[in-house]
Amino acid sequence: MQIKPILISISLLISSIGLAQKPDIDIIKTKNGTLQIQPVLHSSLVLTYNKTTIYVDPYGGAKMYKGIKSPDIILITDSHGDHLDFKTLDSIDTSKTIFILPEETAKKFPKKYGTEMVKLQNRQGVHRLDFFITAIPMYNLPEESNSRHPKGRGNGYIITVDDKQIYISGDTGDIQEMRMLQNIDVAFVCMNLPYTMTIEQAASAVLEFQPKIVYPFHYRGQDGFSDVEAFKKLVNTKNKAIEVRLRKWYPNN
Ligand code: ZN
Repeated sequence: MQIKPILISISLLISSIGLAQKPDIDIIKTKNGTLQIQPVLHSSLVLTYNKTTIYVDPYGGAKMYKGIKSPDIILITDSHGDHLDFKTLDSIDTSKTIFILPEETAKKFPKKYGTEMVKLQNRQGVHRLDFFITAIPMYNLPEESNSRHPKGRGNGYIITVDDKQIYISGDTGDIQEMRMLQNIDVAFVCMNLPYTMTIEQAASAVLEFQPKIVYPFHYRGQDGFSDVEAFKKLVNTKNKAIEVRLRKWYPNN
C-alpha cells in the first residue's frame, strides 16, 4: 500500500526534470490567432500557429521533441549536421510532414520521409497550410569557393503567418540581404565563430533591419558560447525599442 505514492512521486520528479530542460514557450498574439514559439536547441525551434506546427532544423535527438506535437511542416536551412540531423528526423513522426528545404539538402534525403518535399532556391516562396514561406540567402563573407556556407546552397527563411513575419537567419555572415529586410516582427539571428557572425556584426545588422523582437540563437561556436548578454547590450544601447530575448538554447549545458 505504501509503494504506490512513492512511485508516483518518483515519476513526477522525473517528468519535472524532463520539463525543466525545455525553455519556456513564448506567445505572440497575431491578428487572428496565437503564435507559440518554443526554442529547442542551437538553431532548432518549434512554431505553432493555432493547430499547425512547424519544426525548424530539428536537432538533438528524440528527447528534445518529447511532448511536442508532430510537425506539419519541417523547415531545413542547410545540409550540415546541426541543421540536417537524420538521427533526430528518424525519431519523430514525419509521416504527414511537408518538408521545405534547399535543393542541395533535399538530395541527401532517402525516399521514406514525409508526404512532400518542397525545394526552394533563394528568393522563391511557397504557400502551405497557414504559412507563406520565402527562402532568403544565407552565406559567409568573403564569398570564396571553399566557404563553409557558399551563397545559394542554404536558405534562411521568412515565415509569414497572419499579420506577422518571422525571420530565421540560417548560418549566415553579415550580408546585405539580411540588412535590407523590412517589417520583421520576430528574428532569429545566428552568432557563432568561426561559422557565422560576431556579436558585433549581428548587433549592427539587427540595428539596421530593426526587427521588433530578436532572439540570438545558434551561438555555440568552436571555442564555446558567444556572449549574448553583450549582444543584447550592443543592441539596446543604440535602440531600446528592439526587444532582445535571451533564451536557453542549450538546455543541457
Ligand atoms: Zn550551423
